[in-house]
Amino acid sequence: MSALPSYEVYAVRYAHNANARRSGAFIGGDAHDGPMPLDYFVWAIKGEGRSFILDTGFDQAMGDKRGRQFLRSPAVGLKAVGVDPDAVEDVILSHMHYDHCGNYDLFPRARYHIQDKEMAYCTGRCMCHFGLRVPFEEDDVVAIVRKLFAGRVAFHDGAEEIAPGLSLHHVGGHSKGLQVVRVHTRRGWMVLAADASHFYANMEKGRAFPILHNHEDTLEGYATMRRLASAPDAIIPGHDPLVLARYPAAAPGLEGIAHRLDADPKGG
Ligand SMILES: [Zn+2]
Ligand SMILES: [Zn+2]
Repeated sequence: MSALPSYEVYAVRYAHNANARRSGAFIGGDAHDGPMPLDYFVWAIKGEGRSFILDTGFDQAMGDKRGRQFLRSPAVGLKAVGVDPDAVEDVILSHMHYDHCGNYDLFPRARYHIQDKEMAYCTGRCMCHFGLRVPFEEDDVVAIVRKLFAGRVAFHDGAEEIAPGLSLHHVGGHSKGLQVVRVHTRRGWMVLAADASHFYANMEKGRAFPILHNHEDTLEGYATMRRLASAPDAIIPGHDPLVLARYPAAAPGLEGIAHRLDADPKGG
């Protein structure tokens, strides 16, 4: 009998990229090229009287700038699953890439949980290099520094529990300070991978997505997540449209907007 709380977990979709190709999803490309669209999510973790948000997405202007199809503010899906952004006290940033840390004013009361290494990475010498800098946005980095000076950033180094049944784990790889979230649910331990695995196929095939700081750490991250999760299918990739196919909408009418990840997968 576990005394741990069981959280509800939701994937909230806010943007899409219909133009992505399979050849761009794996280092070394793929012999069978074809469309491989990406979805963009934030994730809500609801406990007893307290909600945690993983990542904050981007807005319409950033979608236009980056050529992504912005669908709706992440706030729409969050409110639909009973999360009031004004009341959220804890936001976890998996990493500082533009699609994970925008919408700076959406959570006015929240403190932001980030790994030491990610803040050092996005404000340090690696940003001298265009190839490492390209997934980051100057305004995003300035915004998190402003929150730091407002006393609204909590730093983590490695693995740390931030609430009973909810912990953060540094994996690095894709970005130097990338962290994943392990959360206890009614189905056991779930891992929200964010960009530690963009698609199910990255971790299942052991083939990294081409944007990375360190290839070795990316591949080791797959093994780390398998150790943290109760089952391989309890690892939720960060950009895979299959997530919405595998898990039911949070309520009728929320198909494609908010899906419930702690529910039993469709088809058993
Ligand atoms: Zn990323
Ligand atoms: Zn991403």
